[in-house]
Amino acid sequence: MKIDIENLKSIVGKNNVSDEIADLYVYSSDASVHQAMPSVVVRPKNIEDVQKIMRYADMEKIPVVPRGAGSGTSGHSVPIDGGIVLDLKQMNRILEIRPYDMLCKVEPGVTIDDLNRALKPYDLWYPTPPESGRIATVGGTIANNGSGVKAIKYGAARDYVIGMKVVLANGTLITLGAETRVEASGYQLHRLMVGSEGTLGIIVEVSLSLRRIPKFAAMGIANFNKLEEAGEAISEIVNSEVIPSTLELIDDIGIMALNKTLDMKLPEVEAIIVFECDGRTKGAVNPDLEVLKRICKRHNGFGIKVSSDPQEMTKMYSGRKKLFAALSRYKEGFACTSLADDMAVPNSKIAECARKIHEIGKRHHVIMNAYGHCGSGVLHTKILMDTTKKEQWEDARQAVEEIYDYVRNVGGTASGEHGIALSKAPSWKKEKAVSLALMRAIKKAFDPNNILNPHKMQDAPDDWVTATKLRYQVRG
Ligand SMILES: Cc1cc2nc3c(=O)[nH]c(=O)nc-3n(C[C@H](O)[C@H](O)[C@H](O)COP(=O)(O)OP(=O)(O)OC[C@H]3O[C@@H](n4cnc5c(N)ncnc54)[C@H](O)[C@@H]3O)c2cc1C
Repeated sequence: MKIDIENLKSIVGKNNVSDEIADLYVYSSDASVHQAMPSVVVRPKNIEDVQKIMRYADMEKIPVVPRGAGSGTSGHSVPIDGGIVLDLKQMNRILEIRPYDMLCKVEPGVTIDDLNRALKPYDLWYPTPPESGRIATVGGTIANNGSGVKAIKYGAARDYVIGMKVVLANGTLITLGAETRVEASGYQLHRLMVGSEGTLGIIVEVSLSLRRIPKFAAMGIANFNKLEEAGEAISEIVNSEVIPSTLELIDDIGIMALNKTLDMKLPEVEAIIVFECDGRTKGAVNPDLEVLKRICKRHNGFGIKVSSDPQEMTKMYSGRKKLFAALSRYKEGFACTSLADDMAVPNSKIAECARKIHEIGKRHHVIMNAYGHCGSGVLHTKILMDTTKKEQWEDARQAVEEIYDYVRNVGGTASGEHGIALSKAPSWKKEKAVSLALMRAIKKAFDPNNILNPHKMQDAPDDWVTATKLRYQVRG
């Protein structure tokens, strides 16, 4: 593939184009296991830049992979066909905040935390912060339909996107949606862009509806000797009259990891659940918390602590917050990989799914734990394994396939929040088998030359272990 670097420099300026090997290496991977070198990294500053780049790329049939912070966990922004990585982080202006309309307009490269910092003086927030909000961009979270610990009450990115501007593969700029809270005007194309993972167009401006910041929050924590009892408590909470703002599970492997690596001295039980309620007043929140406490007790939850003191709450949540880091250091020689990392199942299946994850991990000689936003049905797992051993990759591949077969059979889905891209694609394609042809037709209508983030999702390889390069040194 021949790319005219000078032409790209004439569009965005020479400092915003790089084909230096060190830059290409940095942009060759994200938070997933995959790696592939781009041919060039280009950093547009505005919509016109993006249009010109796309016109050129489409004419020359050069692949273009949009990229936010590169925190995707399944190879989302890994350019497996080479070509241009389009780094959108420079387009990070907050264009408008309209408190009376409860909306804002932003460029795609603004981070979620920066956006919420800018909204705070207006008593407003964009309430779907992912744990990665310090770096994750608005464009990336919308393209992945991300969410996080607040999803049980506040939903996902899709619930807040009311309109957007998109540059299509051929460079045409289109405006989608409206500036109203509801819209019943034909196809909701802005919603089609949500979860499109950079395969349908470049999101260059977004209108988001906002919420008032809850003024008061209180948190609780409960221990369970049996995972199943925690599962029953979760189901009853989700079915109750209370909608918690957070409902998280940590399993025994996660507890061991936190005790071992961070000396957190958590009780060695099969499950801990952490819950939070929020609202505009103390009076609205405390009775809700009491309901959740009673439910936990009914299912043999013990050691129940509640607090509305911000410092104490930070302490209570610190185990959950530090879990990913603790898992990374859990076993000498084992790396923590984000494979099968965010499945979602019906709430009644949380405990069963967690057990299944443990059992499958054991059988395939890898360590798999279960934790996550159980209130919204999301279970995270990490696969801890010796990434230097070829046979461990085959173990992981089989474990991933088995857990997704289970998830599909109970009516769940391969991804609750992180998206599909490469590593989740084989199982997701089985789940969505009846709609793949339609998805491919939609992709073709948007991107006839297949230049936008090609070979992802419905077009991803069926065996990611052999068909993609891994970013680990594998022996044998
Ligand atoms: C430690 C850690 C914690 C995490 N916690 C969460 C969590 O709680 N919740 C959650 O949902 N996710 C979480 N993630 C995953 C990740 O942060 C999210 O998927 C996030 O949405 C990715 O944003 P990004 O800006 O990094 O996008 P990238 O990874 O750069 O890109 C993601 C996808 O979006 C596309 N894209 C990016 N920008 C645009 C654009 N402007 N137009 C069109 N397509 C675009 C890319 O091509 C790619 O397919 C976590 C990741 C890590 C490493």
